[in-house]
Amino acid sequence: MSRYKDEQCRICRREGQKLFLKGARCYTDKCAISRRNYAPGEHGQKKAKLSEYGIQLREKQKTKAFYGVRENQFRKYFEMAEKTKGITGERLLQILESRLDNVVYRLGYGSSRPQARQLVNHGLFEINGKKVSIPSYLVKPGDVIKVRENKQDAKIIKINAEANASRPVPAWLEKNEKDLSGKVIRLASREDVDIPVEEHLIVELYSK
Ligand code: SF4
Repeated sequence: MSRYKDEQCRICRREGQKLFLKGARCYTDKCAISRRNYAPGEHGQKKAKLSEYGIQLREKQKTKAFYGVRENQFRKYFEMAEKTKGITGERLLQILESRLDNVVYRLGYGSSRPQARQLVNHGLFEINGKKVSIPSYLVKPGDVIKVRENKQDAKIIKINAEANASRPVPAWLEKNEKDLSGKVIRLASREDVDIPVEEHLIVELYSK
């Protein structure tokens, strides 16, 4: 997510909560939310009362930032969610969770979603034995995501594997630290998604 390079902490401050966009730094007291939990800019410390539309919009922007997804793609995911069975908001989160960059992050092979996206872009991963370098690739139950053999010695992979060894892996994924892989057991359910989002607000926004 290079487009956000030095802007990641500003995004968190805009949304008023940690979105964990910078890896290890997010867990330290260097985190901008810990130090300056108010919106960036001249009037950032003034709390404006949001309209109903404003609240819905912020919820959508926050979710987009969390997963590092642009508006067009986010809209496409919403349309996909609407067309399939189930509760639209929950399906939307399920689709977002199924992105390869998110899965790499969830397995602990990336320190943040932006970094996981970069690692996928650089061709470090394969799915079911085939190289996949598309961060938006949507995984399916049964898929095995693995660091490619010739990339397993990459410094960044070693650092992440060690640093994130104790980070919990969600129940819908199964991690195999020995061969730096992970399997999709099933798709994520709402209970598996730990982000502080009220997805019904996004549905309301797009349904206007
Ligand atoms: Fe910056 Fe991470 Fe803190 Fe967000 S959570 S403000 S990205 S350090």
